[in-house]
Amino acid sequence: MSVLVLVENIEGSFKKKSFELVQYASAIAKSLGTTATAVALGNISEEACAALGQYGAQKVLQINDARLANFSARAYTKVLVTAAQQESATIIITSHDVLGKSVAPQVASRLKAGLIAGALSLPDLANGFVIKRNVFAGKAFAFVNVTTDVKVITLLANSFPIVTGTGTATVAPLTVSFEDKDFAIQVKEVNKVTGSVPLAEAELVVSGGRGLKGPENWGIIEDLAATLGAATACSRPVADAHWRPHHEHVGQTGGTIRPNLYIAIGISGAIQHLAGVNGSKTIVVINKDPEAPFFKAADYGVIGDAMEITPKLNEAFKKFKAAQN
Ligand SMILES: Cc1cc2nc3c(=O)[nH]c(=O)nc-3n(C[C@H](O)[C@H](O)[C@H](O)COP(=O)(O)OP(=O)(O)OC[C@H]3O[C@@H](n4cnc5c(N)ncnc54)[C@H](O)[C@@H]3O)c2cc1C
Repeated sequence: MSVLVLVENIEGSFKKKSFELVQYASAIAKSLGTTATAVALGNISEEACAALGQYGAQKVLQINDARLANFSARAYTKVLVTAAQQESATIIITSHDVLGKSVAPQVASRLKAGLIAGALSLPDLANGFVIKRNVFAGKAFAFVNVTTDVKVITLLANSFPIVTGTGTATVAPLTVSFEDKDFAIQVKEVNKVTGSVPLAEAELVVSGGRGLKGPENWGIIEDLAATLGAATACSRPVADAHWRPHHEHVGQTGGTIRPNLYIAIGISGAIQHLAGVNGSKTIVVINKDPEAPFFKAADYGVIGDAMEITPKLNEAFKKFKAAQN
């Protein structure tokens, strides 16, 4: 019995959420009196794998097959199923992102496991294996008891604290016998977003809506984001109107983010938008309409014109930062 966790890297560095996943897996492993093993795919150094020990992994299984460089749900599923069988894993954990949401249900199906998608908590073992998860696009929680012997969990980002400790994981190669059909669906092209803080990983996000009136006013969002070292996001109509690229669109039909701070500027706070951001730790809303629904979800609200308030907020942050240095 062990806990298996899939970690992801970008160009040779593990993503922040991988550390969270390992820490979560390690906490479950400890409570079950077992160990956590990470599965690392692709081009990542042995040192980086061993350093996952700082987050509680005892072992890292590494597979560096060139065919895995681009995502293939079928091949990634085979990797996890092989690793789970090799390690006699009874709990398999992935992120609750595009990758995890594609792979985890297939792994669960192959291993005849129960699946908890969008987990927010450690399991309550006093009452079986009860995990809190998001339902109704984040409007409510469900507490799910999983009774299968093998369990698959996808973890929502930013649900579990990352504490860097000491420790080194042992690194071992993982061998998987692939067939051509595992790569039958191929990714032909990957367009990477460059030059900005990746939205899914960002701890601070400055987001704009239709209240900004047009792309020519986006400078105030970008200036504030630059001062804070934040990523930028937007509402769906803004992306639909091509004021901003679609990868910045958050909400029910866009990305789901859970940053520590989400500043929403000129966004009404429709339920479909909130579905993507209501897991943010702190929400600040700037809107000229005191009746805007976003104020109900806000921790802090400013009623006023975004064109006036945002530059003032930016100046205040600049002064604050200067005083810190
Ligand atoms: C099936 C479905 C899925 C959807 N998915 C998504 C999704 O994933 N993400 C998403 O965002 N939306 C989604 N929508 C659309 C959603 O319902 C809203 O229409 C959208 O979020 C509104 O965007 P907005 O707040 O930018 O614009 P608006 O609703 O036009 O709101 C603009 C806000 O700006 C304020 N404002 C105007 N001028 C100023 C100013 N000068 N200063 C300050 N405030 C100002 C206004 O008071 C208003 O509150 C979806 C809709 C459907 C039906």
